[in-house]
Amino acid sequence: MKKLLPTSTAGSLPKPSWLAQPEVLWSPWKLQGDELLQGKQDALRLSLLDQLQAGIDIVSDGEQTRQHFVTTFIEHLSGVDFNQRKTVRIRNRYDASVPVVVDAVARQKPVFVEDARFLRQQTTQPIKWALPGPMTMIDTLFDDHYKSREQLAWEFAKILNQEALELEAAGVDIIQFDEPAFNVFFDEVNDWGIAALERATQGLKCETAVHICYGYGIKANTDWKQTLGSEWRQYEQVFPKLQQSGIDIVSLECQNSRVPMELIELIRGKKVMVGAIDVATHRIETPEEVASTLRKALKYVDADKLYPCTNCGMAPLPKAVATGKLQALTAGAAIVREELSR
Ligand SMILES: [Zn+2]
Repeated sequence: MKKLLPTSTAGSLPKPSWLAQPEVLWSPWKLQGDELLQGKQDALRLSLLDQLQAGIDIVSDGEQTRQHFVTTFIEHLSGVDFNQRKTVRIRNRYDASVPVVVDAVARQKPVFVEDARFLRQQTTQPIKWALPGPMTMIDTLFDDHYKSREQLAWEFAKILNQEALELEAAGVDIIQFDEPAFNVFFDEVNDWGIAALERATQGLKCETAVHICYGYGIKANTDWKQTLGSEWRQYEQVFPKLQQSGIDIVSLECQNSRVPMELIELIRGKKVMVGAIDVATHRIETPEEVASTLRKALKYVDADKLYPCTNCGMAPLPKAVATGKLQALTAGAAIVREELSR
């Protein structure tokens, strides 16, 4: 029988200090050339081991081979000039210096396929691989070529689809698209964002997921959260259309967030990765706190569709904190699994 409440993480986990400076985003690599390649593989194996030892069921690469969940993918594409930089407002929240789209975008070679194949060789557990979503990608660039957010997103969707099909062939069980932009640009999400996402999943037979969160626990995000009021109802804007989509799994932020849990009812029928670990605090949840969040979610998600998860990636956290949170997630899920078996 399939295990109930299989645990997983949203994606990124801390990197070893010999590979990149811990607790920061866009941390530069400390190694170069062949040493860097070897170091990334070693880090991937350590990250996998941490997950397995903590009892995580659906494992990932911990995003050890990428500097950032969006930019690293874009760096592998042609048509984007990384020497030209323009300052744009990311998700209407903070300014960042971003590369410029100067020509038609294309994927000349696979981006993460070798890494996924390597992860597949290391474990027989189900593996999940994260890619940026098309809308989140366009929001991290200055477009001087297409001059249409929709058209650029569509081009990225086609590129992501090429990558996803090869990841599936490499043995990935769940392909996840990270779309924090879905929490910001509601009209665009409904007009073409979800259609672009579905284009990225075209022809896939493995499971597909979309991760929609309120971002890493960095200051720009926590400041933004302060402005959102006592109830965060952003999900309400996009869930009805997402429920109608072909995406199998929706990954959400639920722990310590002000998202009313009943909004999950709007995606009834989908599998839900319920964020039961807050990534914006160093405080490690108790197993009972995790269990309490999962019990609340069970009112709106059938038990066989509930996947305990983290709110977002844990790359910016100290390693000991991240490991403690993985253990808390496993222990909390075990409590509820035991209750369900009675
Ligand atoms: Zn996230």
